[in-house]
Amino acid sequence: MEIGIIGFGSFGQLIAKELKRDFDVFVWNRSDRSGEAKKLGVNYVPIEEAASKEIVILATSISSFEEILKKVRAHIKKGALVADVCSVKEYPVGLMRKILPADIEILGTHPLFGPDSFKFKENRKIVLCPVRIKNGKLEGIKNYLEKKRYKMIITTAKEHDAAIARTQALVHFIGRILERMDLKEKEIDVMTYRKLLEIMDVVKNDSWQLFLDIEKKNKYAEKVREEFVKNAIRLNEELK
Ligand code: NAP
Repeated sequence: MEIGIIGFGSFGQLIAKELKRDFDVFVWNRSDRSGEAKKLGVNYVPIEEAASKEIVILATSISSFEEILKKVRAHIKKGALVADVCSVKEYPVGLMRKILPADIEILGTHPLFGPDSFKFKENRKIVLCPVRIKNGKLEGIKNYLEKKRYKMIITTAKEHDAAIARTQALVHFIGRILERMDLKEKEIDVMTYRKLLEIMDVVKNDSWQLFLDIEKKNKYAEKVREEFVKNAIRLNEELK
């Protein structure tokens, strides 16, 4: 089976490297990344070609999602499956429903790992939000992921976003605050301090755009950030 990947940034490259073990992978990226594709051993092709495969994975930034969907729509074949990998789900799922014709199948996904955490095999979890997909195809995908030992969580886009606002958006918010505090390794420290440094480093490795999108394109994230800030201020007041 042939898979097209639109967007060959840090996450697009991670999935291309994994999928090429089992599929013929065709990738496209806005800026020229043909060198990286050659190094990985995947086909670097024009956007029209990547979008015309049986399965098309959209892996560009969340903020460019609408523009990309409109660009690829005309090249996607009837009966093909379009899946996204965005770290938020209501926003891209809503756009896919609106922009893609009814004869194209849709699956929302959020792989709960990134280039840094992928090495921890036991942590490879993936959220699936079936939107418009035939049972047989969904079963095939589930079987494949199970064989690859991914832990699957099947849910709705809404439930995903409400949960991930606490379990990811909050972590990224705290990590970016720690970055602004310019936390450094110290000889006199405790183990939990090293965990803070770890959070800061992992979060810092993602692009700034991804941080903005995780915080701004999830409608539940602002409330969680405010709850955190309010509690930080309150606790500080109690200590005066
Ligand atoms: P990234 O490294 O910043 O890459 C962003 C990608 O989007 C690049 O390929 C970039 O192309 C492309 N892009 C940005 N604006 C574009 C536009 N207007 N038109 C066309 N392409 C555009 O981000 P990433 O970490 O790979 O994230 C990509 C997706 O994966 C996001 O939806 C994110 O939520 C999801 N994801 C990421 C992780 C992670 O840990 N990184 C985990 C799970 C899911 P250029 O190279 O030309 O700039």
